[in-house]
Amino acid sequence: MTDRQQLYQDLTAELRKTSLLGSCSAVLGWDEQTNLPPGGGEHRANQLSLLAGLVHERITSPRLKELFEALDAANIPAADDTPKAVNIREAYRDYDRATKLPQKLVEEISRVTTLSQQAWVSARKNDDFSAFQPWLEKVVTLKREEAQAIGYGDGIPYDALLDIYEPGATADIVTNVFTPLREELVSLVAAIRESGRQPDVDILTRSYSIDKQRTFGIDAATKIGFNFDEGRLDIAAHPFCSGFGPGDCRLTTRYDEHHFPGAFFGTLHEAGHGIYEQGLDRQHYGLPMGNSTSLGIHESQSRLWENFVGRSHEFWQHFYPAAQETFAAALSDVSLDNFHAAINDVRPSLIRVEADEVTYNLHIMLRFEIEQPLIAGDLQPGDVPAVWNEKFLQFFGITPPNDADGCMQDVHWSAGLIGYFPTYALGNMYAAQMYEVAEADLGNLPDQFARGEFSRLKEWLNVNVHRRGKQYSANRLIEVISGQPLSHEPLVKRLRQKYSALYGL
Ligand code: ZN
Repeated sequence: MTDRQQLYQDLTAELRKTSLLGSCSAVLGWDEQTNLPPGGGEHRANQLSLLAGLVHERITSPRLKELFEALDAANIPAADDTPKAVNIREAYRDYDRATKLPQKLVEEISRVTTLSQQAWVSARKNDDFSAFQPWLEKVVTLKREEAQAIGYGDGIPYDALLDIYEPGATADIVTNVFTPLREELVSLVAAIRESGRQPDVDILTRSYSIDKQRTFGIDAATKIGFNFDEGRLDIAAHPFCSGFGPGDCRLTTRYDEHHFPGAFFGTLHEAGHGIYEQGLDRQHYGLPMGNSTSLGIHESQSRLWENFVGRSHEFWQHFYPAAQETFAAALSDVSLDNFHAAINDVRPSLIRVEADEVTYNLHIMLRFEIEQPLIAGDLQPGDVPAVWNEKFLQFFGITPPNDADGCMQDVHWSAGLIGYFPTYALGNMYAAQMYEVAEADLGNLPDQFARGEFSRLKEWLNVNVHRRGKQYSANRLIEVISGQPLSHEPLVKRLRQKYSALYGL
């Protein structure tokens, strides 16, 4: 074995141990959200904080520094996409970022965002932005410092924050797709409103037994390809998916007897994330090649299964007879077409997490247009409510009645997650662009869904997305798959076609 091979082996052994340690935190975190008795909170926080400290020590250790230097990790060309090069370069990227941040800043961000989230909870409850404003000011100042510490090349400070969640993305790249997407969506939403059609959504809030919702959801998640021999579905207040490692991926959802879509599409959404986790290359477990490439690509997988597959007419051609049998009292007098129209209801609403597939992206763009000037210093935190309401009116034709359901509705800013929002809308665009190629490769996908066949699409995603790990950045991955740079057009085309049919546009 050459020296370089030995060094590479030593590096991967180090990285794998760190991943194992991190996955122990994931188990504890999952348990905290699903099972933990209230009395166990403090002890659990101590456990998680100990593990976080150990992981941080390992990812900034002198041993890693030695290995990266000996492997000349800083100089591996970005274009080299062989697995070894990717593993070294991407692991070094994480190391470099972690060591650029002064320990004092890391601790201060952690302290302030913990307190700021508490302040946000009560400020939101009391609809009192002035109580949250000083915390938002502190968070923005710290995030600016973080951006300076990380660096942003020829770009702007916001790029450094965006890059945490969507490696390789910049404000420029995002603006170039968001601007035309926004124009198209505002006009589509207006056309839908002017159509005067409103599906009967009350059928979705009839009584749906929770036990039956659970079995029905598990059945659908299994059919689209989530493997329950290597996963579970449990209940959590804020649903998520957590891949612990090879052979163990946890999904969560929440049930409401009087709201069928919440748990059902929530389950499909998390199953989409889970299928990505289950599709990662196990040989590279714990290494960049065996890890998901970005939050945006992760979200593309969940949105693709939830919206493109799960809200399609053909999906329900297959599932609706079983749904009518399972929920006979709620659905026996509802036609397939009316059910399909109800689950695809589009209307402007205040709350992002409850928004439909069309208006959702507008909620994201609004946040993106506020975050950038905040970080640049061109917008003062105290002016956020006014700017929010002005943009909201412009995008949705509604003025939020208060800040609690306006600029204070999300936890992200109080938690320091500035730069995170764009990944949700990028996910929708990535999904549409890759789905177009999948359709060209696999023939008529809706026909397959109508027959209850989902495996060809799942396997296509396994090969083209999941098994590639971090081989490419998200932006590059989309180019490799489609031969084109990221564009808003496939998503607009999809939405226009689907909703023109549903609303008679
Ligand atoms: Zn998601």
